[in-house]
Amino acid sequence: MTFILMKLPYAYDALEPFIDAKTMEIHHSKHHQAYVDNLNKAVAGKTDLESKKVGELLMDLNKVPEDIRIQVRNNGGGVFNHNFFWEVMTDNVKPREFTGKIAEAIKKDFGSFEKFKELFSDVAMKRFGSGWAWLVLNKGKLEIYSTANQDSPISEGKYPLLCIDVWEHSYYLKWQNKRKDYVDSWFNIINWKKVEENYENSLK
Ligand code: MN
Repeated sequence: MTFILMKLPYAYDALEPFIDAKTMEIHHSKHHQAYVDNLNKAVAGKTDLESKKVGELLMDLNKVPEDIRIQVRNNGGGVFNHNFFWEVMTDNVKPREFTGKIAEAIKKDFGSFEKFKELFSDVAMKRFGSGWAWLVLNKGKLEIYSTANQDSPISEGKYPLLCIDVWEHSYYLKWQNKRKDYVDSWFNIINWKKVEENYENSLK
């Protein structure tokens, strides 16, 4: 198998009470695993694709043969987006602090953390159906926007810094239809240290 399921950087119950252990277990071991399995099926036998990183496939979807392009877009996106998502959350209280260059940039571009939170939550709420809300760098500027399904910003040349999964599978067990409560709650477990790292890498 070419692509493998990323190991979580914390235990399934680490994000309690904000995200419950059962949701994390199903999300990672079933949903994320299914994207990995289906991506492997899609590229099976295509050695030029099998040797690439998932991000490389997504950055140049036009180079993926047309007969498997949609599978790679959906399942490759599923793999990349979840890998990214797990890492921008943390069970460790200290790195949750909103500091660093990214904090300064957010305050500068959006006015305040509260304003940023409001805008980001709004985008997460307005994503109709399934998808993701993102903070990205777009041509050097911070931008909050959302993608549908498993579409990834890297396919549009945007550089991801932070994201939240707003598929129902990421919150329904605990929050049911209350996406807003899930999004509010998720703000408590953002790994700002990792977001800072993403930001610094984007500037290189
Ligand atoms: Mn998901």
